[in-house]
Amino acid sequence: MIKRSKQKEVILRVLRSTTSHPTVTWIYDEVRKEIPRISLGTVYRNLKLLRERGEISELNLNSAPSRFEARTDIHYHFICEKCRRVFDVDEPPDKRLKGEVDQKTGFQISSYQIEFRGVCRECRETMDKAESGEK
Ligand SMILES: [Zn+2]
Ligand SMILES: [Zn+2]
Repeated sequence: MIKRSKQKEVILRVLRSTTSHPTVTWIYDEVRKEIPRISLGTVYRNLKLLRERGEISELNLNSAPSRFEARTDIHYHFICEKCRRVFDVDEPPDKRLKGEVDQKTGFQISSYQIEFRGVCRECRETMDKAESGEK
């Protein structure tokens, strides 16, 4: 029997080692390298727990499986529509935004996510090469 705390520790370490905003299946594959007998359900349960405790974030991007990351501060994301990778955008979040929406709507906002979409630098370079006929 593997200790529960060990499972959580490994999951957190895996998540902190990447900036790729992985899905649960990716995390599962990585965690299995250390705990071969862990189940997908257990990984999922632990992710939920860690999220509830505010130790990790879950990203719900339209019509895609949830992605997770170790960062818990509000930051923007960029999603490449070609390769589907998710990047952090290192632009300081606009602090006024939440306050303004709070005030105008009377809603109590606990969190928000902003995502930009388009084509990432690598995909752009590949497209440029293809256009110029390079192999
Ligand atoms: Zn891309
Ligand atoms: Zn992020």
